[in-house]
Amino acid sequence: MDFQANKDLIFQNVAQIVEKENRPKDSVNIIAVTKYVDCETAKKLVATGIKHIGENRVDKFLEKYHALKEENLTWHLIGSLQRRKVKDVINYVDYFHALDSVKLAQEINKRADHVINCFLQVNISKEESKHGFLVEELDSVLLELAALENICLVGLMTMAPFEATHQELDQIFSEARQLQINLQAKQLKNMPFSDLSMGMSRDYPEAIANGSTYVRIGTAFFK
Ligand SMILES: *Cc1c(COP(=O)(O)O)cnc(C)c1O
Repeated sequence: MDFQANKDLIFQNVAQIVEKENRPKDSVNIIAVTKYVDCETAKKLVATGIKHIGENRVDKFLEKYHALKEENLTWHLIGSLQRRKVKDVINYVDYFHALDSVKLAQEINKRADHVINCFLQVNISKEESKHGFLVEELDSVLLELAALENICLVGLMTMAPFEATHQELDQIFSEARQLQINLQAKQLKNMPFSDLSMGMSRDYPEAIANGSTYVRIGTAFFK
């Protein structure tokens, strides 16, 4: 694996799309998802100039965190989180991308020793296999989350179906963006909703074209 070449290619692709879409330079943060590799390999990737690391499981997150904590990285927990594991991990997390229930939010609020940046996961495509709130539930969910002082809702996260076409991706990501813009306009306390976490190796071009500010890329770094 030529990590430097893979990294350069991904960063160049992202920069090109950002420019084509007339978005500000550096408006998209690239999270390297290291769940496929061990700590040594992740270290080699980080040496190419990675600033954001993402892991989807608590045990793997903690392994990488302890191996790489000297590297001045921003740490993203991107996968669904079981309530009983919150206390083990939440205070190491800079951004949690998969807030998908009020009970989980309450547990995070209880265990956090500082304000945790969270993305609300929304199930735009309504796939049954996907986690996340349905759009229709959001108003009542936000009322319940408003009381949780240790939770800052920085934005929305969504995932598109694996087999989605270009057109379907555009539709899902633009719907998420519209929702994010509407929520941001509400100017709710502890709920800036300024960001969008969407786009993976296979669909980050469509996600960036629709305003994504955090792309979560794994496979493309490790081929
Ligand atoms: C694995 C994973 C990614 C990265 O997916 P790739 O297709 O490998 O780029 C992004 N988001 C989540 C939640 C993941 O679990």
